[in-house]
Amino acid sequence: MDTPMSSTIADHADGTPMEKAPPIEVNEFENLYEMAVAQFERAADLTELKPSLRAILSEPKNELIVNFPVRMDTGETIMARGYRIQHNNILGCYKGGLRFSPHVHLDEVKALAAWMTWKCALADLPFGGAKGGLQIDPAQLSPVELERVTRRFTHALGSNIGPDYDIPAPDMGTNAQTMVWMMDTYMNTIAYASKNVSRHVVTGKTVASGGSVGRDEATGRGTIYNVASWATENDVDLSGCKFAVQGYGNVGSFAARILQDEYGATLVAAQDHTGSITNPQGIEANDLADHVSANGGVGGYGKAEAEDPDEFWKTDCDIMIPAALEWQLTSTNAPQLKCRLVAEGANGPTTMAADRILQENGIDIIPDILANAGGVIVSFFEWTQNRRGETWYLDEVRHKLKRRIADAYDRVQRTRRHYGCTTREATSIAALDRVAQAYDERGIFP
Ligand code: NAD
Repeated sequence: MDTPMSSTIADHADGTPMEKAPPIEVNEFENLYEMAVAQFERAADLTELKPSLRAILSEPKNELIVNFPVRMDTGETIMARGYRIQHNNILGCYKGGLRFSPHVHLDEVKALAAWMTWKCALADLPFGGAKGGLQIDPAQLSPVELERVTRRFTHALGSNIGPDYDIPAPDMGTNAQTMVWMMDTYMNTIAYASKNVSRHVVTGKTVASGGSVGRDEATGRGTIYNVASWATENDVDLSGCKFAVQGYGNVGSFAARILQDEYGATLVAAQDHTGSITNPQGIEANDLADHVSANGGVGGYGKAEAEDPDEFWKTDCDIMIPAALEWQLTSTNAPQLKCRLVAEGANGPTTMAADRILQENGIDIIPDILANAGGVIVSFFEWTQNRRGETWYLDEVRHKLKRRIADAYDRVQRTRRHYGCTTREATSIAALDRVAQAYDERGIFP
């Protein structure tokens, strides 16, 4: 007999989470999607976008919610809820990550899907935007339960994903192993007739199962290539810079290690869900990554001082890299920042009120859809390699990534100068231009 859901899985019929997301300010928006739409509207105003296109791009094309049973190790069965939002596909297949978190809800996934449309357009990729989410806490599940829930979710999505239709990738709470389970499930159910040529149904896989070298580091590396472009533009010597990172998972830990190892900058503070640590003399980024792998977070790291989480944002540093969650920089903590640059490794880490404060205080921002585009760029490389039956070398992947990031960064700066607008507005405009041009050329069917 089925038993009710475990406390790790939310069950509200309207898609709102049972547990509240981490503390955020009461800002001008009810939810993340409203903020994503407001950012889009601003770009639409500045470019005088046609009303018809404004209407089309204000809503996702498809919103899928699936509820499915999962057997737990105890023998009980719980119901899980998953989302897949397909925002737009004018430029190509839907593309976007899959987030496993107890806080995932519909509006958040809609916002993340819309940002994927703009991110892919900005990076000049032949992809549209999508995002998925599953309301579970992966840390509370055993590996076998995680595999079962992933496979069952993939089965529930069925032909709503596909290598030439909608291609998931890792995001918060998911990783290369998650993608391999998805690929295997898809190949054994939906794509059984074309098994051997369907590996590109997901990207971000392990290299052994068809992933690309360099995909694991790609998002953090892309963030740092952007930081390097900013440093060149502003005549900043990164080897003399101090930086702080919020989130020491995939994006944050690779960004920190690359900024330290390849550009000589010094990590002086880090924060994640387990605590905040600081050492003005420097924290060795690789050593911290080893500690996080062994202990699940930065908390308890012996070669730095533990500090109050609120103190983290006051860190005396040149570069701040939020690489955890949305809405972390608020009107409360934004005035406390002492850095010169915020490089948004995470999606939507800055509220619009905080954004205005950073601008007023002369702090530069590399916005999320530019700063974290490296992940989807190398996902595109993986998809291309799978389709062509090729495997590329790491130096080739890094070189191509660097070039695409530099191109996108330059396009944003040119747009900013042209419109006399903020970098965030320029980033949205540069992306919107691509999408609008495609609609102009193709028209509306029929
Ligand atoms: P991850 O699961 O590997 O790491 C998430 C990190 O956030 C962890 O260090 C965790 O401790 C920290 N965190 C969670 N709750 C926190 C809290 N309340 N306060 C402080 N820290 C907290 O996830 P990831 O893949 O590194 O993703 C991080 C961000 O980057 C997300 O916004 C994601 O959407 C974005 N992003 C990821 C990719 C990718 O390729 N993985 C690509 C583009 C954007």
